[in-house]
Order: sequence, then C-alpha cells, then structure tokens
Amino acid sequence: MNQVYIFPSVASITRNNSCPVCDNQKGALVGQINYIGLEKFNMVQCATCGLVSCDPLPSAEVTQKGCDLLYRLQQNSNSSPKILKGFKRSYRRGGYFARKHLAYMFERNTPLKILEVGAGDGYFSQGINSYYKKSQITYMDIVEDLLTYYKEHFTCETISSDLKTVMSSGKKFDLIIARDLVEHLINPLDFFKMANAVLEQNGLVFFITPNGREDFWHCNQRFLKRKEALLIYLNHFNYFLPETLDLILAKTGFAKVKAFKFGLKRYRQGCGHQEMHNFNEQVLPDQEQGFLHTKPINECFKHDFKKIVSSFLHGNTFVAKIYSMLADREKEIVDYFAPMGHEFFVIARKIK
Ligand SMILES: [Zn+2]
Repeated sequence: MNQVYIFPSVASITRNNSCPVCDNQKGALVGQINYIGLEKFNMVQCATCGLVSCDPLPSAEVTQKGCDLLYRLQQNSNSSPKILKGFKRSYRRGGYFARKHLAYMFERNTPLKILEVGAGDGYFSQGINSYYKKSQITYMDIVEDLLTYYKEHFTCETISSDLKTVMSSGKKFDLIIARDLVEHLINPLDFFKMANAVLEQNGLVFFITPNGREDFWHCNQRFLKRKEALLIYLNHFNYFLPETLDLILAKTGFAKVKAFKFGLKRYRQGCGHQEMHNFNEQVLPDQEQGFLHTKPINECFKHDFKKIVSSFLHGNTFVAKIYSMLADREKEIVDYFAPMGHEFFVIARKIK
C-alpha cells in the first residue's frame, strides 16, 4: 500500500466521533472550518486511512440550514441564462460519459437501470439517456422541490430521501451515479455499503469527488499560519486521499474498474503543493438577507427540456462531440495516486 499523505498538524487529539472508515479514536488536528457562518468544527485526519473529516460531526439541522442558505445565496447571484448554460453542460458531459466510458461495458440497446443520487439539474443522466435510449433514470434527493422539478421536466422515477428507502423497496440498479456527493456525507462508508446492497450483481458505482490533498490545502495552511478557521460555503465534511477511497471500496465490496484524477488548473496555481502566505480576508454571508429571498427550486429551474437537448454545442451532435474534447480538457488526466488533480474519477464494480 502507498504511504498516506499526512497534512502538517498542530496536535494529536481524541476525537468526539471515531473515524467513519476505520473507527480510530485518535486523530491529528489539521485545520478548522467555519461552516457558512453557522458553526465551527475541528478538521481531523486519521493516520490509518488518511481521511480528513469534521469532528464532531455536524448535526442534520446545521447541514440543512447551511444548504438552504447556500441555495438562497446562489439564487440571488445566478442569472437564468447562466443556469441554463450549466444544464447544457451537464447534458453534454453525460453523453460524453456514456460514449467514452460506458460503451465498453454495456451494449447500446441495454435497458440500463440508472440511479443518480444528488443529481442537481438532472441533465447528466439525461445525457446518458441520449446514448442509452432504453435506459430508465431514477433520481434520488432529500429536497422535495427538486423531485418535483425532475418529474415535470424528464421521463423518470424519483425516490425521496436516502438509500435506506431503496433497500427496503427491493429495487435494484445497474449503475449508481454520485457526482460530487460523497464529500458531503456524514458517513461515506455507509453510502457505499448501501450502494452495494441496491446494485445488481456486477453493478457499477460511478463517482467523482474532490482530491482531498488539493481541496483541503487552503484550510490546513490558514490554520497553521493564522490559527484561523476556513470559511466554507459548501458542506464539504470529508477530504479523501486515494488510499482512503481504496479502503472504503475494499471494505464495501467494490473493485475499481477505471480510476484517475482530472483537472490541473489549481495544481498550476500551486494549490496543494506550495506554501501559502497571502490569505484573503473572509466575509461572512448575510444570513438574514439570504433567508428572506425564498423561492421554490421548481420555480427557478423551470425551462423547456427540448431547448436544452437540441443545443448545437451541448446536444448529441457531431459538433458537441468535438467541443466536448476541447472544453472538458480531456487530456488533463493524471494517475489516481498522483498528488495533483482537482477531482477523482472512479468507476467501481460490485464484486461481492
Ligand atoms: Zn480512518
């Protein structure tokens, strides 16, 4: 096994909650976060699996409040054309993913049963569906507004809440998609355990998640040099190293089929690899003002499905395929174990 990267720390501490991956009671204090102005948490790294996670674990109430606040802030700053452009991009990427990665594993006429968890705009799976036309898409989320949005815009099924609901329903899937999800979870190990339980034999899980080494760097540096908590807007409660993910997959009955890291922009900026000396002042969000602008998701996202999928640059056209190659910088791929790279890309197969 590779040597786990250990962040510089100030002290070894006894944790409030043991490491979710390997149950260690001890850990190294490597940073602090200020979660969107609501609460501060210690960030602790486990020496066995390398996971950096929140200690104590944030309550469901705080997380819910934080997600709500972030959503209002985004709605106030994002214009409708910008949102629609994001939809088109997801759609194109889904199509690309199907052609580039799934096409080697499934015949094109396979009626794939796909479950996307925390799907956001939902267009990634719709992009897959443009290639695998017989596939059935199911979306799962805890936000009811989003489920309504999916039903109104796509041919799909929806599941409220979490994988426990799916486990008790007895439904099974060929592919589970979790893009930028596992870094948000209170217990990532549980997610993979449950994903395994709802997959068909030889089923696949596909996930992308930030490279913890790069993603956590700023937090670690700010703590070491200024004794400050890093203000974060997104509920990134877990920061993974390659070895952490390997251990989680091994413990939950998965084997990697394809795994690499992608995105080198932040590496070129030095993130995760150079000492930082200049830190921006952190401005706390205006919580009162944020909560006042409350609109249901469904209303903000309302649009014409046909306009998105017929887009010249992002649809399933020849031009879109070429654009995909250039826009997504497909060549910016590095080894799964390399320290650099913005996100992990992993497809893993259920083996037991
Ligand atoms: Zn651990």
